Amino acid sequence: MPDSHLPRKFLQLLKPRLPQMLATLCRFVTAESPSLEKAAADRCCGVIAEEWNKCGARVERITQKHCGDLLRITRAPDKTRPAGQLLVLGHYDTVYSTGTLARMPFRIAGGKVYGPGTFDMKAGIVQAFFALQALQQSKISLSKRLVFLWTSDEEIGSEASRKTFEAEARRSDAVFVLEPSFGPRGLLKTARKGVGAAELIVHGRASHAGLAPEEGINAIHELARQLAGIEKWNDLRHGVTVNAGVIEGGTRTNVIPERARVVLDLRALRVSDMRSLERRLQALRPFHRGARLEITGGFDRPPLERKMSAALFARAKSLANQMNLALGECTAGGGSDGNFTAALGIPTLDGLGAVGDGAHSRREHILINTMAQRAALLAALLASL
Ligand SMILES: [Zn+2]
Repeated sequence: MPDSHLPRKFLQLLKPRLPQMLATLCRFVTAESPSLEKAAADRCCGVIAEEWNKCGARVERITQKHCGDLLRITRAPDKTRPAGQLLVLGHYDTVYSTGTLARMPFRIAGGKVYGPGTFDMKAGIVQAFFALQALQQSKISLSKRLVFLWTSDEEIGSEASRKTFEAEARRSDAVFVLEPSFGPRGLLKTARKGVGAAELIVHGRASHAGLAPEEGINAIHELARQLAGIEKWNDLRHGVTVNAGVIEGGTRTNVIPERARVVLDLRALRVSDMRSLERRLQALRPFHRGARLEITGGFDRPPLERKMSAALFARAKSLANQMNLALGECTAGGGSDGNFTAALGIPTLDGLGAVGDGAHSRREHILINTMAQRAALLAALLASL
């Protein structure tokens, strides 16, 4: 590890740059970038690219068909032969459709910056940008290639960008995810639940409830019995949850329903629990004779197990200590692209972005006085590997 003054040195470089950090954040946030609106997202991609172009790194735009283009920024190592690669990963898409800015403007008040996508996660991209500048300014010799990858479809499942960032992760020794941290103390996310959805459709047989009840197979009754069993799969202590979120079936009270369906939210902290949930779903058998079950879906994102981030977190914690920052960690119930990179076996540290609150809501904001510190922490991490 390089000398122990580095984190403080980065912090000294970054603190006076806060006005520029805020101006950059303003440019990124006022370019609205909903995941589902390509034209708007592409404009935002252009704004972000323009900024990164200023720091002399190689900026490539990777064209996408339906979502905004991806942005890959490469900073070559100082040595002619790179000793590996580090990936900094994040997304610039937001959950807010265009026009949201009109009722939820970019606004600075009380030490906070409000606006759509400030916390999740445009401030993270800003911090990474200034971290790279601090690295360049301090003239530290980097042995590894740095790749920054900003995607555009994280909020809708990362289907289009997944191949690209997984390929980049496979070439990397570590992945740093600039998703928001948690809580006012900015806890890093050292574990994330795997997340999925499954649909269970029960096929019964319709009949007149009064004239021929014996000829019917009640799909709702069958589904109710299935759900009573499925509810027992919940195991909060081990981070396993199954939530019946949507249910429907039947047509009229005097008709025995021939169809009923439920959509389940599935979460697990461990890969083994994820697999066992999927096995149990596939193993469901009907209670009522003649009923048929149709089961589709499963986990979309595997869990980010803590063992994949433990060593990186220990490093981050000791670097933060050198700035008198006590860094904590937490487990997140939701997934990010870090789940995918960790599942490839690449050490992944998540939640390295902004400190704030209110993601995906009107209250969304970041805390200004943490920006320089978090950028310095990222710079120190990148310089230490
Ligand atoms: Zn996010």
